[in-house]
Amino acid sequence: MSLQDLVYRVLSKPAVSRTLSRTGMRSGFAHRFVAGETIEEALAASQRLAAGGRRICLNHLGENVANEAQAREAAGSYVEMLRQIRARAIDGNIAIKLTHLGLDLGRDLAVELASGIAAQARDLGLSVEIDMESSDYTSLTIDVFEAVRRKFDNIGLAIQCYLRRSEDDLKRLEPLHPKIRLVKGAYREPPNVAFQDKAEVDQNYVRLLDRLLDGPFFPAIATHDPRLVDYAERRIRELKRAPDRYEFQMLFGIRRDLQNRLRADDHPLRIYVPFGTEWFPYFMRRLVERPANTLFVLRSLVAEGLFANRRH
Ligand SMILES: Cc1cc2nc3c(=O)[nH]c(=O)nc-3n(C[C@H](O)[C@H](O)[C@H](O)COP(=O)(O)OP(=O)(O)OC[C@H]3O[C@@H](n4cnc5c(N)ncnc54)[C@H](O)[C@@H]3O)c2cc1C
Repeated sequence: MSLQDLVYRVLSKPAVSRTLSRTGMRSGFAHRFVAGETIEEALAASQRLAAGGRRICLNHLGENVANEAQAREAAGSYVEMLRQIRARAIDGNIAIKLTHLGLDLGRDLAVELASGIAAQARDLGLSVEIDMESSDYTSLTIDVFEAVRRKFDNIGLAIQCYLRRSEDDLKRLEPLHPKIRLVKGAYREPPNVAFQDKAEVDQNYVRLLDRLLDGPFFPAIATHDPRLVDYAERRIRELKRAPDRYEFQMLFGIRRDLQNRLRADDHPLRIYVPFGTEWFPYFMRRLVERPANTLFVLRSLVAEGLFANRRH
């Protein structure tokens, strides 16, 4: 069993996830990757990042709503985020998850709500990016994206390099000339669906990045992998690609050294800033992809005396 499998199994135990989600914000360790539970906290973090020359991608954490009312409420909160970004003159956009907009309840509801958000964003002069979730949703997500993208050109989509299908998906999306956020992929997927070996995922990242840079796409290079960042920088230089025709993207709190270097070299950089009370699944993905992260969580829990209390 790999270390990642082990970390995943331990964190998936209900008692462990309950403890972490109860204590994460209070003891501070969740702040390592999540800007806060409220939009105010997220906007304050965004303003600090924007002052350092970063673009922002604001994400209200939440997935898999149970009914239409919750989906509409989520859509309302996304629109409010757009208004706040505009009101505070932050150089930013928002990321949306289609299962937060009721994708489990039907494609049409997700198309309607995502279109409404894209329309509001367009009226405010802003844009929207659709996150890619687990492979159960890939086909539907692409289908919804295509439907919305035909009406609105201010919407982009994340594509995951660990999926075997992604090269074909990019071929299919090419006629739309879309913004594509290229990521490695953060969910646990079976071998028939996704490359399991890091070297294979990285190779596919290079292949798909080349396709984005050589084709009619706006590439958003979303990785903290220094070797891939170096590769992208080299290709951008060779192609003499202007800074208004690509951007790098990184997650809040991760590899700030690399973020600073990209800005120092004048590359456009967008930081994905997640917030909200439903931060646990996102936080867990950050722990599982980097088992060393569990150490700082453990240190924080020990410092709070959580384990000590258990013994009494
Ligand atoms: C802006 C943005 C948006 C994203 N959107 C999506 C999405 O829509 N769907 C999706 O499935 N995935 C998404 N991801 C997550 C992505 O799929 C990867 O899980 C994540 O970025 C880690 O992969 P990596 O490219 O950084 O490379 P890795 O090889 O995993 O990491 C490279 C280096 O980055 C640092 N690093 C990476 N992750 C962590 C971490 N958790 N903690 C500390 N250091 C770390 C380490 O130094 C590591 O050596 C997004 C990522 C980014 C940057």
